[in-house]
Amino acid sequence: MKFEHITLGQRVLFGAGRAAEHVAQEAARLGARNIMCITSEFERPFAEAALTLADVGLWHTDVVQHVPAETADKARKAASDAGIDLIVCVGGGSTTGLAKAVALTTGIPIVAVPTTYAGSEATNVWGLTENATKTTGVDDRVLPAAVVYDAELTLSLPVSLSVASGLNALAHCVDSLWAPRADPINQALAAEGIRALADGLPRIAADPSDLTGRETALYGAYLAAVSFASAGSGLHHKICHVLGGTFNLPHAETHATVLPYVVAFNGPAAPDAAARLAGALRAGLASAPAQEPGAEPAEDALALLNSLRGTLGAPTALRDYGFTEADIPEAVERILKVVPASNPAAATGENIGGLLRAALAGTEPTTRSAALAAAGAVQNGGTK
Ligand code: NAD
Repeated sequence: MKFEHITLGQRVLFGAGRAAEHVAQEAARLGARNIMCITSEFERPFAEAALTLADVGLWHTDVVQHVPAETADKARKAASDAGIDLIVCVGGGSTTGLAKAVALTTGIPIVAVPTTYAGSEATNVWGLTENATKTTGVDDRVLPAAVVYDAELTLSLPVSLSVASGLNALAHCVDSLWAPRADPINQALAAEGIRALADGLPRIAADPSDLTGRETALYGAYLAAVSFASAGSGLHHKICHVLGGTFNLPHAETHATVLPYVVAFNGPAAPDAAARLAGALRAGLASAPAQEPGAEPAEDALALLNSLRGTLGAPTALRDYGFTEADIPEAVERILKVVPASNPAAATGENIGGLLRAALAGTEPTTRSAALAAAGAVQNGGTK
């Protein structure tokens, strides 16, 4: 084995119903005297629950998805005007993103209390949007000092959002199997994340109040983010970044829709990763389809992923989120510029166009359709 792996330093506290106790503990450990709570108006009740044992000097609820630069500037000014020494953010990836934007320029530490499965809380990646362009960067100052996971705060997340957000987490794991800095450590974390998500998400879809399902999914989402932060963005994230940034498609739903097409595309060229994905899905799913005799690892992995998506009622077609046939040429051009050189399958205008056409229409993703796309044969999403 020959690899170089970086483990990010962060305290992680799990405990259903214990957010208030854990936030107070971390605030004391960090010596906080003036706390700013960042949360959206909608998420504020979760924040109030998480901060019942800590004094909040400033509530800041001006949260906007994808962190517009002017929203970040307002929050930074509010923090410095008030002499804030700790940010506690409570909410989804958009809220965590705003806290990170403040930490990026001020160095103020963050305690994050996530209420979705986006996973931003466990990465040192920040994102800001200016002039309709989303820029991301890596800086250890934005990595929260502590993360407080309390599954009770996620009970209200509707099933559709839970599924999309959970598949966004699954995509972090899958891309970590073949991303540019994939290594045995982040692949092991990713595999355990896949197992946990395949276990937890169907429980949530069956019963949104299933606390064990919620907790298992949060655990999987954390592992997903840790593996992704270490392995970097693979093809899946490069595609979704273009779709979200240029065509303004919604974050979690886009990830949830595109994932099986990327597995179909890369899987045949990455049999070890596909076998690992299949093994982890099979270990997590309560009722997994048996492996077809003679099936390649990629076919097996895709069959399991399709089965999970079916159970969850996952989003299926990008056209449902505003993407159109006319957008494909620009998307292909932008994606080809950012595909990692190490991606298992060689990307071309034709095969990325075929992948997008299939995802646009919701054509059933199969390794056969990926092979046809590679030959330039998928037109208008027309193969099954
Ligand atoms: P989000 O934060 O926009 O939340 C989606 C919706 O869910 C919002 O309306 C929110 O109010 C609501 N919500 C949150 N928690 C809830 C709960 N418990 N019950 C009911 N509703 C709830 O979306 P997201 O998918 O969590 O995050 C997406 C954002 O995070 C994107 O901007 C993405 O780029 C970013 N992100 C960043 C990283 C990173 O490493 N920097 C990683 C993943 C995602």
